[in-house]
Amino acid sequence: MSKENRGWTKYKGLDGSLATVLCLPTAIALASKNVQLDVKCTWCLTCNEDAIHVLFLCSFARSVWEDTGVESLIQVLPHDTVFDVLKRVFENGSREQIALIGLFCWSIWNRRNKWVWDRNNISVFGVKSAAISLLDDWKKARQEDHKHSSVRNIATRTWNKPPPGWVKINIDASIFPHINCSGLGSVIRDDTGRFLRARNRKVEAVLHPREAEALSLKEALSWAKDLGFQKCSFETDAKLLVNACKGEHGRSYFHTIVKDCVDYFKHFDQVLVDFVSRSANGVAHVLARATHSMSGSQEWVNTPPTFISDVIILDSI
Ligand SMILES: [Zn+2]
Repeated sequence: MSKENRGWTKYKGLDGSLATVLCLPTAIALASKNVQLDVKCTWCLTCNEDAIHVLFLCSFARSVWEDTGVESLIQVLPHDTVFDVLKRVFENGSREQIALIGLFCWSIWNRRNKWVWDRNNISVFGVKSAAISLLDDWKKARQEDHKHSSVRNIATRTWNKPPPGWVKINIDASIFPHINCSGLGSVIRDDTGRFLRARNRKVEAVLHPREAEALSLKEALSWAKDLGFQKCSFETDAKLLVNACKGEHGRSYFHTIVKDCVDYFKHFDQVLVDFVSRSANGVAHVLARATHSMSGSQEWVNTPPTFISDVIILDSI
């Protein structure tokens, strides 16, 4: 296999994260959608704020990349897009270098948002430390996964793509007692890790956590059935819910919802409901939390909302 092809194979598995980085809602990206705003970079105030500027060319980004040990992998040629730069990284970097570069991009973008929205000025050191500490978590999670590969479906700490031909649907719920509400969130990704859809809904009631988790599974099952998916791998960080789906009986409201969930299984060719740790369920968690400041329900198709973009990137590296 040629060097170029090897690079492409590595890169293909991560195209979910690339798609997200390519969709960063920079000032230039928003202006192209007719949003009226100043397109200058809010940090250096000299160049237009597009993704390549924020991540690689801005004076702040340059200071971040200095002395990271991966800066030689990042070459920005005239008229390059972020896609061009990252494609070269994927072709030439090791898996760990690719992960580190992905995490630095995430950390720089996160810092940009903190500056734009809160005027919170995170230092170059802060951005580097955040990325490096995430890399350590990523390495530990990979080692753990390796050690426990035979029981991964009950101990997964990082998000994994479903088998070929399957979709993975992560679900979660949040309770907000102070505003008398609960929130449900779910996200569907395909077997390449690509974002397909996300949905969240605010429920005007303070549900018991286990009931909220069960309700979020029931709604996700109904949603997947209506969309016609036949091989579905559902993941939740609620162990009780998984155990109940596997046959635990009871008369509570929780068990009534679980029974409804189990009734849905017959509409699919294959269904899995697995327990994963919260770190592998981050996107659904953020979706459920986001219902706090909204009403009703929302759905996103093909392009994820910006508030989950960072978590999707982390999942795919
Ligand atoms: Zn700038």
